[in-house]
Amino acid sequence: MNKALFWDLQGTLGGEAVASIELFEPYPFSKEALTLAKNNGYINIVITNQSRIGKGTLSWETYEQAIRRIKAYFNAEENLIEEFFCCPHTHDDQCECKKPKPGLIRLCVEKYHLNIKDCVVIGDMGKNEIVMAHHAGCKGVLVLTGGGKGSLGEFRHTWAGYEAHFIVADALEAVKCILNEKQSRTNDKRR
Ligand SMILES: [Mg+2]
Repeated sequence: MNKALFWDLQGTLGGEAVASIELFEPYPFSKEALTLAKNNGYINIVITNQSRIGKGTLSWETYEQAIRRIKAYFNAEENLIEEFFCCPHTHDDQCECKKPKPGLIRLCVEKYHLNIKDCVVIGDMGKNEIVMAHHAGCKGVLVLTGGGKGSLGEFRHTWAGYEAHFIVADALEAVKCILNEKQSRTNDKRR
C-alpha cells in the first residue's frame, strides 16, 4: 500500500488563494516541501478546483498551458508532482470531483493503491481541503499562506464543525509536522 499527500495548488504551493491560475508563481519553499515528502515515500498529487472553466471564463487550453508551466518548474529535476487533477465544474454541475467532495481522492486511492489512513490533504481553504480530508477519511493540514488566515478568521463559519489536524505556517512546515508525528509514533512503538 502506498501513501500520498493531496496538495491544493493556489494559496498552498504558490500564488494567491483566488487569483487566476495564469498568475501562479510558486512559493520559494514549495519545491523543498515536495522533495522532503517524496524522499519520505509520499506520492505528491495536486487537486485543484477551477470552476472558471465551467463558467466559461477560463479555457481548457489556457488552464493546460498554465499547468505545463507549473509542472516544468516543479518537475524540472525530478518528478516531484506525480499528477495534477482538476475539477472544472461549477456548483450547479453537482459533480463528484469538486472539493470538498472526495471524488478525486477516491479515484487516486484506486489508481495508486493508497492506504487512505496514511494520506494527508494540505491546503489553505478550510471549507475545501479540511472538509474534503474529513469526507475522504484522512488527515487535513491547514496552511496559513494564501487564504489560510482568512479560513481561520472571517471564513471560519464556512467549515464550522471541522478541525484541521495541524495548522502550520506553510507547505514546508506542513510536511515537517507530518513526518515528525510519524517519527514520534514509531518511537512510541519502540519503547
Ligand atoms: Mg487554495
